[in-house]
Amino acid sequence: MKLNVGILGATGAVGQKFVRLLENHPWFTITAVAASERSAGKSYRDAAHWIEPTRMPESVAGLEVQLCEPRLDCDLVFSGLDSSVAGTVEKAFAAAGYPVISNAKNHRMDDDVPLLIPEINPEHVDLVQRQTYSETGFIVTNPNCATVGMTIALKPLQDVFGIEAVHVTTMQALSGAGYPGVASLDAVANVVPYIGGEEDKLETEPLRILAPRQGEGASSSVTPLSFPVSAQCNRVPVIEGHMECVSVKLAGSPTADQVEQALRSFTTPDEVAGLPSAPETCLMVDDADAAPQPRRDVHRGAGMTVSVGRVRSCPVFDARFVVLSHNTIRGAAGGAILNAELLASRGLLARRKV
Ligand code: NAP
Repeated sequence: MKLNVGILGATGAVGQKFVRLLENHPWFTITAVAASERSAGKSYRDAAHWIEPTRMPESVAGLEVQLCEPRLDCDLVFSGLDSSVAGTVEKAFAAAGYPVISNAKNHRMDDDVPLLIPEINPEHVDLVQRQTYSETGFIVTNPNCATVGMTIALKPLQDVFGIEAVHVTTMQALSGAGYPGVASLDAVANVVPYIGGEEDKLETEPLRILAPRQGEGASSSVTPLSFPVSAQCNRVPVIEGHMECVSVKLAGSPTADQVEQALRSFTTPDEVAGLPSAPETCLMVDDADAAPQPRRDVHRGAGMTVSVGRVRSCPVFDARFVVLSHNTIRGAAGGAILNAELLASRGLLARRKV
């Protein structure tokens, strides 16, 4: 039986990506859309300034946009809410018994909230058993859009060698700032070397995601790792796809070939590989000279495959490489949908009793 889902922040850039990716989803059907007072009361067709390249799904276009209050007719909610409101709204939904699958930053570092990338740390799902919002409600988050790609690439290096330090410089797409986002006079033919709050997220979130879970179920906990990450974030005139130039210092100082081999050896855990939104390849190493590139490679695996290229030795650290990931699919709506699929496959989502 399919589950009914609501989308909080449905009119925004991430919200629209949810609407597009959930059209014809085998497990989930959109039955509610919600946004701010500016949009509430209008049809979704009239409220959303549609920026997706495909037509707006008819099944959603006629839905009335509601306020983000926990009386939506659905079994769970995806949140693409602005962080100014996500914190309190998501808690209110969890307290009212709704599972909340969020993209917002507000609860990512809460001790009892999984910060989840299903291929990397599915065992962190256990943390929801520590939450006490209500009998059925809980919050699960996915990482910052720039954190996701780098962390997927770091996972095999942590497992095979152990990471001692990371330096990353990002070139992040305009869609990462939502809609309307960065003013065109700032963005066109330019690079903006500042994205508020972004460097802090890149320097902290990977340490929590890559950390092992201790204990199980209601006794589980995650203590973040402690290697230093230095991040410099830039906004560049690309529509979709965050690029990251990463240098890593690894235990045992492996060669670039060994690092590349470790990256190529990464496989998706079996329980995740069969989920509807899991790409065939989560981490692809591309050995072409000038790869990966956003315009050419960002849609690999329907936007869920992270590409790595230019793996080579580093004269300062041990190895360096370039990572590309789709910020609004793998880094937002697609990642959140994969999170929900993992929760559903573990029996943590159900029809809501009213
Ligand atoms: P956006 O385009 O600005 O959309 C924000 C959404 O939040 C809109 O639906 C807006 O509704 C709603 N909203 C704003 N104020 C509200 C209020 N007071 N009450 C209820 N709803 C309100 O932003 P976005 O890029 O989609 O990002 C959404 C969230 O996902 C943010 O927390 C962001 O940090 C996170 N995220 C974004 C990306 C990305 O690549 N863009 C990636 C990962 C995570 P109205 O249309 O009615 O104003």
